[in-house]
Amino acid sequence: MFESIRFGTELLRLHAGAVWSQILLKKEDDNKPYRGRKTPLQITHSCTWKCNYACIHCQAQNDNKKTDASTESVLRMIDQVSEAGAIKIGFTGGEPLVRNDMPTIMDCCEENGLISSMVSNGLLVPRYIEVLKKLDLLFLSMDGDREVQQKVRGRKSWDVLLNAMKIGKENGIPVAALTTLASFNISCLEEMSRVVREQKVHWMVGLVQVQFSGKNEQNLTREQIERSVDILEKNEYLRTSRRYLDFIKKDQPPRFCFAGIGYAIVSPDLVLYPCFPAQFDPFYKGISLEEKSFNEAFNELPLYRRTCDTCRLACHIEANYLNIFNIESILQSMRLTKLP
Ligand code: SF4
Ligand code: SF4
Repeated sequence: MFESIRFGTELLRLHAGAVWSQILLKKEDDNKPYRGRKTPLQITHSCTWKCNYACIHCQAQNDNKKTDASTESVLRMIDQVSEAGAIKIGFTGGEPLVRNDMPTIMDCCEENGLISSMVSNGLLVPRYIEVLKKLDLLFLSMDGDREVQQKVRGRKSWDVLLNAMKIGKENGIPVAALTTLASFNISCLEEMSRVVREQKVHWMVGLVQVQFSGKNEQNLTREQIERSVDILEKNEYLRTSRRYLDFIKKDQPPRFCFAGIGYAIVSPDLVLYPCFPAQFDPFYKGISLEEKSFNEAFNELPLYRRTCDTCRLACHIEANYLNIFNIESILQSMRLTKLP
């Protein structure tokens, strides 16, 4: 509750110093500095390039040969992020749990009083369950029914997922299934909805961003999206906001964005970007946190507006709704960090 009040207070300060004409998406603002007051309310750290899975739809551009930032540098970044006023930190990858220093990283988040979440494929959840108890929310990727999940994520990945859900819940960790809707799993939506109910876990759903994978065949048709929304909105465990569902149904470009203003992304080699599309855009240059402090880098970080028209990324779009005090988004986000 205290953290929610702090989040609301910081958000009010962000609004008080906002330049709304630059929060509204305009191509001419691409790579321009933001003239208003920035507050890094939430940071997502893609903490490793590595993964113990090789999913066919992976959007993370993994590379097991690339080197991740050192423990020392990550801890320094977390301290600086917290000093700069961040309230939430999320870890994604690759697979965050392949970093064997994750216990130290989680301790650091706890010491800094950060609300923390992690996206995992579940394989190493049993091994790290004591560490994961420090999390406020554990996302587990669910990409279909048993057959499709195993086809896209590999043999045994379905049992791995259900086991991770079970162990997470038994240990009092709020667990959410995280689903990226794409052409290869759309026929499993009813079954995924049933499994979420059966397992009694939260459910977050977003659309595939083919800009990352380059696989246009994974896109959904308008009819498929509309049918999906009809199924999704009937599920009582769904924590995706009504507003996001309306957004994907209408298929219009987003109109505003707080990327690089109220939230940001840190890549595995500690480069700061406003959002994932900016990270994967060769025309955008992030700022290295090995060369500048987080505060300096965040304040200097130029806006990204080049590919916003195609952006449907649930994590960013939902953060935007939260940042304009959308009541349903606030309630959904509060529900997520409680046991369902
Ligand atoms: S588990 Fe996640 S990060 Fe790893 S390959 Fe699959 S989609 Fe990519
Ligand atoms: S690409 Fe998406 S998240 Fe990034 S600035 Fe544009 S709308 Fe925001």
